[in-house]
Amino acid sequence: MNLSFQPLDLKLRHTFKIAREIRDVQNNIIVLLKDEDGIMGLGEAAPTSFFGENVKSVTEMLIQSIDLFKNADPFHIEDITGYLKNKFPKDAAARAAIDIALHDLIGKKLKIPLYRLLGLNQQKTKMTSFTIGIDTLEKMCKKVDEVKDFPILKIKVGIKNDVEILKELRKITKAVFRVDANTGWTVDEAIKKLNIMEELGVELVEQPFPVGSIEALKKVRRHVKIPVFADEDVKDSKDIPVLSDAVDGINIKLMKCGGIREAIRMISTARAHGLKIMIGCNIESSVSITAAAHLTPLVDYADLDGHLLVTNDPYIGVTVDKGRLTLPDGDGLGVKTR
Ligand code: MG
Repeated sequence: MNLSFQPLDLKLRHTFKIAREIRDVQNNIIVLLKDEDGIMGLGEAAPTSFFGENVKSVTEMLIQSIDLFKNADPFHIEDITGYLKNKFPKDAAARAAIDIALHDLIGKKLKIPLYRLLGLNQQKTKMTSFTIGIDTLEKMCKKVDEVKDFPILKIKVGIKNDVEILKELRKITKAVFRVDANTGWTVDEAIKKLNIMEELGVELVEQPFPVGSIEALKKVRRHVKIPVFADEDVKDSKDIPVLSDAVDGINIKLMKCGGIREAIRMISTARAHGLKIMIGCNIESSVSITAAAHLTPLVDYADLDGHLLVTNDPYIGVTVDKGRLTLPDGDGLGVKTR
């Protein structure tokens, strides 16, 4: 196989603000794996600084991996991804790009869609939420108004006046709310705010506290009925057992865990611990969003709107209609150039 890659700079429809950061562009990398027959597998890395990755680190990892693919068999995904995980443990988004490209390539070689390769029923995708980033109340109301069709909204919280904002948003939409504090709350604040949010129709809360706040998570669950999900706290399957008594569910992202292979291991591990599962994303194009969408028959909640938040997605894959995800029928990921 021949491994190559190219930059993909995604422009955000709205400036994206969460509890700890703000930006207008997401710099991703597209990976192309071409076999001897000229069949091409597509993958994508959407690195985030929170987990210590960026375009430079992804590029360096990919350059160091080129030789590995020269005589490799694409069907040896377990060998390849296992080797890369040992060699580049911190480069999860870069590894995810390769893992996704391998799955796309073998799906194309076998002439079947990825969901069939994984033994999944494409009718059982989940509804995705649409994310509303932090902004002025006026702009958040406008954003909510723009996505009236979505029955589920994920509202970014973790700021001082978030309860007031949520109360105002409740007045203009009947959508189910999920909230994500992105590590922005203290334990007392979370208990107080979530008890109010319960009455505002909040279905679940993501990552209220900084990474490693196990006792705070346990405490909040004693005082709050809203299910608590870990996101930043859980990168891959090894992080799940220690959290299993402290949360109700986990948010799996291909870019955190290193790809489809590890995501499936996480799903098995989470189920063994009785946890609910959400599959989420970064700001990504239809390449890696579609990869994650193929896994949604295995999970309880989907938050796969990253490609909807950008204006220049060069690809077409999974489609979203009123929150419903429809998988493409093409081989592999089923992703095409727009
Ligand atoms: Mg989150």
